[in-house]
Amino acid sequence: MSSLNFQSMISLGVEVLFVAIGALVLFYFRRRISLAPLFIFVGSNQFLGQVLASSVYLVVGHDTVVSPGSMVLFSSYLFIILLVYLRTDIPTTRGLIIGILVANITLAALLWFTAYQLLSYETQMVLDMPIELFAISPRYFLFGTLMLLIDSLLVVLLYESLSFRASKLPQGAHIVLTLATVLCLDAVVFSYVLAGGEAYFLDVLRGQVLGKLSSGLIFAFFLMTYLRVFEPGLRTHRPEISKDILSIFTHRERYHQVREQLKVSEAANVAKSRFLAHMSHELRTPLNAIIGFTNVLVNRRTENDEDRLLLTRVLHNGKHLLVLINGLLDLSRIDSGKIELQQEKVNVGELLQETMDQLEGQALGKPVVLKVVQPAETCWLETDRLRLQQVLINLLGNAIKFTDKGEITASIIAGAEPGTVARIDIADSGAGIPEDDLQSIFEPFYQVGDSGVSDKGTGLGLAISQALCKQLGYQMSVDSELGKGSRFSIHITLNAM
Ligand code: ADP
Repeated sequence: MSSLNFQSMISLGVEVLFVAIGALVLFYFRRRISLAPLFIFVGSNQFLGQVLASSVYLVVGHDTVVSPGSMVLFSSYLFIILLVYLRTDIPTTRGLIIGILVANITLAALLWFTAYQLLSYETQMVLDMPIELFAISPRYFLFGTLMLLIDSLLVVLLYESLSFRASKLPQGAHIVLTLATVLCLDAVVFSYVLAGGEAYFLDVLRGQVLGKLSSGLIFAFFLMTYLRVFEPGLRTHRPEISKDILSIFTHRERYHQVREQLKVSEAANVAKSRFLAHMSHELRTPLNAIIGFTNVLVNRRTENDEDRLLLTRVLHNGKHLLVLINGLLDLSRIDSGKIELQQEKVNVGELLQETMDQLEGQALGKPVVLKVVQPAETCWLETDRLRLQQVLINLLGNAIKFTDKGEITASIIAGAEPGTVARIDIADSGAGIPEDDLQSIFEPFYQVGDSGVSDKGTGLGLAISQALCKQLGYQMSVDSELGKGSRFSIHITLNAM
């Protein structure tokens, strides 16, 4: 860089000032004039870079031109990308990067056409520019485009990595380190491509590193000052995990928005469940009073049969309502994550038998055989005994309710390891469920082929059972054939699906 004289140094300094202040002013007034002027400014700098390359340049080797002027502009793109990234959003930054790349490619093509004309038709040049500049530039410009793409990605990536890993350092340090590192890397790669293996390689490298680093540091200073003085404050967007940093190129910000929306709706869902839980609790108290007093009246000797019938109906409906409210309370408790699991080692065969014995009474009077089928080896499960039993009661209760004759079998399907459980099946030879209803039966209040409140249940049992299974880390599925029977399965391990 020995041929860089004082005057050209001054012109370089002025260039950096012009670009930095120009970009910052245009960015500052973006709300009034939009970002278009800044984008045009950056795009036209590509052309300006070429003019500077021909006015302040060094010829290293016999056809290699190194331009400190265009190096300054190259650094400025990264500075502007970082500025836009830090104070606007990812789509805008992406737009800027694409804009720069388009300008770069357009310029490369135009230069190539010009070079072709100059060489083929001996077109006259008013300015005394070296023809090599046009002849070789497109190649370097295209390479520059690729480098610019990589550098833009690196700037964002490195800045974010630094703010994750070195969060104690001030923002200014992140900016300086980011720009300096990316520009140095760029200088090394660029020099290698330009002069790798040549005797003048070190000269090129020194020039590149010096030019890019010094202009990069000045740009970093402008950026830090601007952020602190003119637009202080926190960033509006920030990737949550390091791999999301790549979102700038992969539209992942959309995924973030959706995730945010999901969080909001999940919160709303929890709030709704809490409200329901509260309401159900408030409803139970007066209802218990109604049931209690009606019971007293029914049991009083009343001569009037009609009164007794009406009171019995009140009692019956009151009890049904209470079951419904209790179910609703259960469901909302599970949904709002209010239940706490008490894990313990459970002998599953024993639990099934115990539950079956409890419900046996409900099958009395029906020609139905109840069976528990289990492997020879005792099967154990680390689970919440009460919750699992609640699910089994619901499934076995349904099986008994909807089976008039035949058998009901509760089976344990052993896992790969001895003594473990892969699946628990509750199968019956009852009414079965039409195929169209198979998905819906897990929805709250859904009852097959019945529009009103059924005497047989509330339509909440399966919804509660499924929610409980989810909490326990299991999955539930159903197979059924109308008129032949149903099989409900609790998949303890997922490969048992
Ligand atoms: P319910 O309180 O009505 O039993 P559930 O949520 O437990 O509510 O079940 C929903 C509906 O699914 C039942 O009303 C019934 O139509 C159907 N169902 C559930 N289990 C069986 C079964 N074993 N056989 C036939 N139908 C069933």
